[in-house]
Amino acid sequence: YKITELANNYKDIYFAEKQVSFYNDTTDPSSPSYSTSKFDIVKIAEDYIYKKYPDLDIVNVGIVNNENSLSYIAVFYHVLNNIPIINSRIAISVDGETGKITNEEISVVENIKNVEKNEILNVDKEARIKKLVDDINSVAEQLELSKNKLKYEDVVIDKDYNKNFIFLKNIPFTTDSTLHAQLIYNCVEEKDNTLSAKLQWQLKFYSSYLYYTVRYGINDGKVISVKKNKNNYRFIKYNSPGDNEGREWEITSAANPEIKNASPYGWNKIGNITYNVPFGNNVKMYDDYKARNTFTEIFDESNFNFDFDINKDYTNHDEINRNFAITNTFYMINILHDIYFNLGFDVEAGNFQDINYTNEGKGNDSVIVLNYNFPSDDSNLSNIQKKYKKYVENYVVNSMAFTTPEDGQHPVLYMLNIDYATHNHGLIHEYTHGVVERYRQKAHITGDCFSGNEAYAINEGLSEFFAITSDAHGEIQQSIYDRLEFFAGALSDALFLICGKDRNIDTHFKCDENLLQEFKNMKKNELPYNVHLYQIVLNASSHFKCHPTYTDWRDAIFNEVDTHPVVRNNRYFKCLLWISFANRGFGSNAKEEYTRISYPENGIKFEQYENNFDIPDFCMKYRSVLDNNRMEIEEYTYEKVYERQLHDNFK
Ligand SMILES: [Zn+2]
Repeated sequence: YKITELANNYKDIYFAEKQVSFYNDTTDPSSPSYSTSKFDIVKIAEDYIYKKYPDLDIVNVGIVNNENSLSYIAVFYHVLNNIPIINSRIAISVDGETGKITNEEISVVENIKNVEKNEILNVDKEARIKKLVDDINSVAEQLELSKNKLKYEDVVIDKDYNKNFIFLKNIPFTTDSTLHAQLIYNCVEEKDNTLSAKLQWQLKFYSSYLYYTVRYGINDGKVISVKKNKNNYRFIKYNSPGDNEGREWEITSAANPEIKNASPYGWNKIGNITYNVPFGNNVKMYDDYKARNTFTEIFDESNFNFDFDINKDYTNHDEINRNFAITNTFYMINILHDIYFNLGFDVEAGNFQDINYTNEGKGNDSVIVLNYNFPSDDSNLSNIQKKYKKYVENYVVNSMAFTTPEDGQHPVLYMLNIDYATHNHGLIHEYTHGVVERYRQKAHITGDCFSGNEAYAINEGLSEFFAITSDAHGEIQQSIYDRLEFFAGALSDALFLICGKDRNIDTHFKCDENLLQEFKNMKKNELPYNVHLYQIVLNASSHFKCHPTYTDWRDAIFNEVDTHPVVRNNRYFKCLLWISFANRGFGSNAKEEYTRISYPENGIKFEQYENNFDIPDFCMKYRSVLDNNRMEIEEYTYEKVYERQLHDNFK
C-alpha cells in the first residue's frame, strides 16, 4: 500500500527544536484573587497568561483533572489567526481549593517570519467543512485509499464540532468509518533558517486497522507527511485462542491496546525509560537464557514497530511470522496482566510488575518470557543447535511452563519453540497457573500443594477454565474430561448457564464478554456476572487446603459465593452453580463418599467418587434447568472419565 510505504519513509521534519521556548516556572506562584467559592479554572489560567505574556495568542483546549487530586491543569495551544500551532502547549496548574496557580509549563513558537494565509481562515463552518471534504478526497486519491469520492452530504459531523477539532463519521475508506481532522499551523524551518508557519490539515484515522497521522498542505494541495502510530501492535485477539497452527485466528491491530487503569503508562515503559523492544513493566521477552539477549536485532530501536505481517502459510522458519509470534506473546501476557488486574489480581494481591506505583505488594517481578526460539522441526538446525535443543527439552522445558516464585521475584514463562508464542489458549492457561500460585502464596498456604492426582487436576482445571471461557466462540470441549479437568467442565457449564451462552436458557444475569475494560473502577453491584464468577473462582484459591480434594475446592467456591456482597443472597445464581456440578455427577451429596483405588503395578493411584446428581433442596424449583440441560449435554459423567482413564492405563 502507498500509505504504508510513505509511513515507512517518514521523517520528522517539522518544528525546529531551537525555536521552542520552554519555561517551567514554579518559583513564585502568584494568581489573581478570586472571591467566588467555585473557581473558573480556565478564567484563572487565562488571566494569568495574559498578565504575564500579554502578546501571546492562545486557545483553551480543555482541563485535565486527576480524580484523586485537587489540582487542575488548564491546557491551551499557542495560536496564529485563531489556528493552533501544532506541538505548542501551555499548561497552567491551579489548586482547586485555593484557586492559586501552582505550576506553569509553556511551550510556544517565537520569531515566525512567514505565516501562510488562505481563504479558509475567513469562511463559515459549512464552507470550511466543504473544503475539508474536498481535501480528504485529495488525500484519499494521493494515498490510493479509495476511488470513491466522499460527498459533503454523506458525511456526518460529530455534534461536538468546534473550530479546533472536527470529528467526521461515515468515511468509506477508514477502518472504523471515522476521521479526526484539525486545522493547524505547522512551523518549519526554511533553507535560510527562518521559520514559516504552514497551514495544514492534520488527519488521524485507521486504515487496515493501523492508525495514521497525515498532514496535508492547504495551499500546496499535497500530502506533506504520513506517520504511522508507533504503538501499533498486530496480534491474535485474546478471545480467539485457537491453537498454534492458525486455526480460527482472528488477527487484528490496535494502537495502545493496554487497559489504562492496569497499565497507566503503557506496556513499553519501566519508570521513565521507554523500551523499543518487547520489554516493559509487566513483561520482558528473551530468546536466550544464558546470554539474556532480548529480541533487539528484530525490534530495531530506530524502527520501533510491533506491527508485523503474517504469511498465510504459517511456518516458524519465516522471519516475519517469528516477529509476529513474539509480538503476540508480548501482547497476550500484557493484556492478561491488565485483565487479571481488573479481576482483582492487582499490586496488593501480588501481581507481576516491576514498578508497582503504590506502596502495596512487592515490585521487581515482571514476567520473564524465555522463548528458546527453536523451530518446531529440526531440519534447519546445525548439529550443535540440535544438541542444545535436546538439552533444553530434557532439562528445562519440552513445551511450555510457568514458574512462580515468591512476590518480588520474577516468574518465568518458558517456551521451547516459537509455535507456542501464538498459542493463546496455552498462554492463558500458563499465566493462570501463575496467578493461582501467587494467590496460594499470599494466603500462606505452604508446600507443594498441587501435586497428587486430585490437586493436580484441580490446578489444571482452573487454568483450563480461564483458557476455555476466554474463547468468545468456544463451546464446552468434551476433551477436557479426558484430562481429568473435571472442574473446568463444571465451571464452564456454570458460566454458560449464568450467561446463557449457546444454551436455550433465558439469561437472567447481565454478563459482558468483553474483558478489555476497567472493571476495577466499577461498583461491585454494577459488575457483570461473568466477572463475579471469575472473581469467586480466583478468590477460592486463597482458602483451600494444601493438596485439596474436589470436595475442598467445591466448598471453597461455595464459601466465596456465600460471602460475596452481590451473589450471596442470589438463590438462582447459587443453584446454577450447584446444577453445573450435579450435572457432572458431583452433586450436593457427593462429599467424601468415594473409594480409593490404587494400581501399585504402575505406581498410579486414582480416587473415585460415585456419581451423585443431587442438588440442595432450595434449588429444587430450578430442577428443570438441570433436567433439560442434561438432555443436551452428553453424559460424560465423572465415573465415565475414570472408566476411560482406567481403560487407557490397562492398555
Ligand atoms: Zn497446566
